[in-house]
Amino acid sequence: MIEGYESPWRRVDPSQNEFARLDEAQREAWLLRRLNILVAHARAKAEYYKDLPAEPLTSTDQIRGLPILENPMYRKHTPPNGTQLVAIPNSSGLALASGGTTGEPRSCYRTAEEQHVIATRLAWGLDAAGIKPGDVVANLMPPGNLWVPFISYLGALEHLEVRVLPIGRAYSAEAALKWMNRYQVNVLLGYPAEIVRVVLEAPQGSTFPKIRLIATSGTPVYEGPRRLMEQAFGGPRFVSAGYASNDTGPMGYQCEHCNTGTFHLQDDLQILEILDVDSHEPIAKGVNGKMIFTQLLLRVVPVIRYAIGDIGKWVNEDHCPCGRRSPRFELSGRTDDMLVGEALQLLPETLDKALHGVAGIGPDWQLQVTSENSLDCVTLRVETLPDIAPHTVDVDLLRCNLLTCCPDMVSDLEEQRLGKVEAKVYPYGALPRSPRTGKITLFLDERRR
Ligand SMILES: [Zn+2]
Repeated sequence: MIEGYESPWRRVDPSQNEFARLDEAQREAWLLRRLNILVAHARAKAEYYKDLPAEPLTSTDQIRGLPILENPMYRKHTPPNGTQLVAIPNSSGLALASGGTTGEPRSCYRTAEEQHVIATRLAWGLDAAGIKPGDVVANLMPPGNLWVPFISYLGALEHLEVRVLPIGRAYSAEAALKWMNRYQVNVLLGYPAEIVRVVLEAPQGSTFPKIRLIATSGTPVYEGPRRLMEQAFGGPRFVSAGYASNDTGPMGYQCEHCNTGTFHLQDDLQILEILDVDSHEPIAKGVNGKMIFTQLLLRVVPVIRYAIGDIGKWVNEDHCPCGRRSPRFELSGRTDDMLVGEALQLLPETLDKALHGVAGIGPDWQLQVTSENSLDCVTLRVETLPDIAPHTVDVDLLRCNLLTCCPDMVSDLEEQRLGKVEAKVYPYGALPRSPRTGKITLFLDERRR
């Protein structure tokens, strides 16, 4: 509060997380109450949910009697494709666009209140991840263009008593580094691609600040980009800034005991079910299944039993060593990770490894799959570092690495389940990126169906 002025905003720091202090029975009652409010609201206001039961549920387990909302249905019934999932048309607050790497971006809405609550939960997640009062944080998330991470994290940092540099996508690496050095930044928050861009495009002889923590979202940090950032910024710790989406808000956060891909559930915002892919029955801890989220907060487009498209498992433990009560899950992949040939599944981690040891190339890659004579053909596309000519890169070594990392690919080639495997080198910055986020589409599927 500033003396003499009213201020509707107030800091909601991690010590105000009431849910974290509840016992099991209190948690169940709390979640059940919010679930019933959500279901009644959705049923009354959104065409898609009009057949949900009118009687309140008597336990959260009864959520399994409600229909699962598959990802394609979500897309079909949200603007611009449809409106059946919209419960509050013309709501005030943020209008956002999500996705758009393939196809038309979808619309997404949040009221100012929803956005405020989301910011507080992101803040509690960043606190668990290790951002502490007194830190100086550079916010390098992509701003503008109806993209939400920049403003969500800006809002989150306001609850953490840190100094914030709203850099966004810097107009030059030189400028970004100048600001970071001037304000003695010790934490970076952003997409890996943007932080890597600052490293690669920094002028010769640049001074890099010593960074304690790099919190990323958007895409995982693969080994190549990680090494680049480690060398430039003096060996920072890497952590996820949160597992979140436009449609569902924050779903997971990391503590110091969470390895890559492991998260605590944002358990006062989300009910998570992990179900057997075929039977849709709950699956045992430690076994991979389909992740189904019910978002208890969002009212404009209610999200009830949403199959987000990720595969994951509950961590097989009673409690995380950090002492937090929210359960942990581990992401194991997307249901749509690239499948080529008859059964060869390509994972981003594998393709990242193929780049190691090839001189003159940057850490970014893209896998393009085309079809020729009804066989899948694979091209691994990479970029040079700035000021390196593509023809000087050992493209045969790159292809050879790819085959070494994917032994199944070799047998698929020999037995003609796969047409061709190639590697191609492009000049720095030549791979197509999303103009809104700077991200490269990892898998480019150009096969004829
Ligand atoms: Zn923990």
